[in-house]
Amino acid sequence: MAQLNATHDPERRSWLESANQPGCDFPIQNLPFGVFTESGVHRAGVALGDKVINLQALLRHGLLDGHAALAVHATSSGGLNALMEMDPLFASALRGQLSDLFSIGASSERLSSARANAESILLDMSKVSMNVPCSIGDYTDFLTSLHHTERHGRFKGLKDPLPPAFKSLPVAYHSRASSIRITGTDVVRPNGQYKDAQGEVRFGPAPMLDFELELAAFIARGNALTQPIPIDRARDHIFGYCLLNDWSAKSIQWWEQVLGPFLGKSFITSISPWIVTEEALLPFRLPAPARPAGDPPPLDHLNGERDQAEGGIDIALEAWISTPAQRSAGQEAVCITRTHLQNLYWTFGQMITHHASNGCNLRPGDLIGSGTISGESDISRACITELTNAGKDPLPVGNNEFRTALEDGDEIIFRGRAAREGAVTIGFGECRGRIQPARAWPA
Ligand code: MN
Repeated sequence: MAQLNATHDPERRSWLESANQPGCDFPIQNLPFGVFTESGVHRAGVALGDKVINLQALLRHGLLDGHAALAVHATSSGGLNALMEMDPLFASALRGQLSDLFSIGASSERLSSARANAESILLDMSKVSMNVPCSIGDYTDFLTSLHHTERHGRFKGLKDPLPPAFKSLPVAYHSRASSIRITGTDVVRPNGQYKDAQGEVRFGPAPMLDFELELAAFIARGNALTQPIPIDRARDHIFGYCLLNDWSAKSIQWWEQVLGPFLGKSFITSISPWIVTEEALLPFRLPAPARPAGDPPPLDHLNGERDQAEGGIDIALEAWISTPAQRSAGQEAVCITRTHLQNLYWTFGQMITHHASNGCNLRPGDLIGSGTISGESDISRACITELTNAGKDPLPVGNNEFRTALEDGDEIIFRGRAAREGAVTIGFGECRGRIQPARAWPA
């Protein structure tokens, strides 16, 4: 179990000035992992300020040793799965040595060598292209915001807007891993079946396209088939977190959904490129979100002392929209959602324990989506369906424009930051995607 250590010290500053700027997502206390492309080859890197640390280059210069060097060797295939599967002490040792190498600290031979070779070790983040950081074998998406679920139940006119199981277990569906893409990838409007305003079933470009603002966890070590994961050890199975946009074609979803979401979701899912580790988030832990008075406590297997005490994380999240009209007028994107991870009814630990409770095995690199992180307040509604009350109240997006669904050319940008008094704020970078017109159906 990781503990607070020197890498979290708020006094630590980097000799790389951009990492010390106020508002920087990647100060020396963050050190998130990602995979970038260098001359056509995938390589593991760590974000620092406006640079990417090339981990293989550090090895070449002999700047890492012991467990940290072994951790980098494990990434030589260009993906993070092997590192995710290793004992967490390897990634932790690497974090420790990176923190020492790039901090202003006692002078050492290694520190001087890192500074002298900075040119070949640090790449401009704006110039490298990022990739999905590991092979994602399975992707599960949860539905854990009570407010999101209740609003959708009301939109559908259900007498009891919350499904009966919602407060007993974290509801989820198996989603599609093959169509997960890195931030910046275009989102092509899917073709699909839907019911039009006249009640006719049609096939064509899906008219009601939406975003869903979520946080996702990457699984570290997995569990063997038949072997469940006790609640107070669930977090030890998480490598880290990224932002996730669960793009949804609501028109397709509402018509097809008998067994659960299918083509209304599987056309693409976008993620931010940097995995902010469990260890980096240690200073930002909170108790599990309090349940409303009168709600049943979780069943014993989902009710852990450690999970209740620190199963929450202090992460604020935002969604922004940029429309073609805004861009041609030279205007900035507009913030449409401000929410917080504590709006969820279930913790990531509970999601993981529930997921494995029937003996289902999770594997390193599997992705676990939180579900749309909507809160009670209007500004914390984390998808357009909620922001518009299912299309009844068009959403102003600036420039005298309104939306009831995303239009071609619209871009959605997510940002997230973990903040806490006495700690240096760390961020997730961006998760963005722009809607492109549907492809013509082949002749
Ligand atoms: Mn979702």
